[in-house]
Amino acid sequence: MPAPALRILGIPIHDVTLQEAVEGAAAWIREGGAHQIATVNPEFVMAARRDPAFREVLERADLCLPDGVGITLAARYLGRPLRERVAGVDLVEALAARAAREGWRVFFLGAAPGVAERAASVLAARYPGLTVAGTYAGSPRREEEEEIIRRVGAAGADVLLVAYGAPAQDLWLARNLARTGAKVGVGVGGALDYIAGVIPRAPRWMRRAGLEWLYRLIRQPWRWRRQRVLPLYALQVLLSRLPWYPGGS
Ligand code: UDP
Repeated sequence: MPAPALRILGIPIHDVTLQEAVEGAAAWIREGGAHQIATVNPEFVMAARRDPAFREVLERADLCLPDGVGITLAARYLGRPLRERVAGVDLVEALAARAAREGWRVFFLGAAPGVAERAASVLAARYPGLTVAGTYAGSPRREEEEEIIRRVGAAGADVLLVAYGAPAQDLWLARNLARTGAKVGVGVGGALDYIAGVIPRAPRWMRRAGLEWLYRLIRQPWRWRRQRVLPLYALQVLLSRLPWYPGGS
């Protein structure tokens, strides 16, 4: 994978299309070793600026995908336009489609009890031939790590999808991915909820208009707590182009 195309407020972002991300995963599965993918949105950037451990995890991730319109808009404003926005849920779909063809074993970890199973069966029906290595809700608590590592290892997973929300899922992968034996680990946020049909995804026109965040806010009003950092994000990105601004990249 190439070096990050740009940094937004110091956080690395790769200019990679959905197709290239899947090709990258295919290469990593052939080569072996553990590779981590993060789906970065503006809330990630703001959280990582406050949390050095999360920042370090994104710094070390093999791929920081531009999820969220706030990332692609910022990139354009900073003079480094990205070719595509790659949403976590689209990556999960594309990986499942490729896994069905290649015979990769996919493990679905996280989300509320039953959701990972439902997401896995939806994908298995949509992509015949998909091998579901296993599903497990569990939790990101340290006490459960050994048990989860054992389960994923015993399932012989190639791809591990982790839905514990950010930053928990990304920290979890950074600590444990290599020990699970899976070659590719992805922090997928709410993707399993969408695929299982637990939470509807914004209609296509809203996604196209860059309003997915608004739809999520309307459907899940508690998100205001997480989204309240967005105006500050926008302001800091605007300021970060000024040469004397200390908080830029
Ligand atoms: N989640 C979980 N355990 C936790 C925290 C979150 O299983 O301790 C799941 C939650 O059920 C959801 C996913 O993590 O499926 C993250 O969802 P969210 O939409 O908050 O993630 P985002 O995409 O905003 O990072």
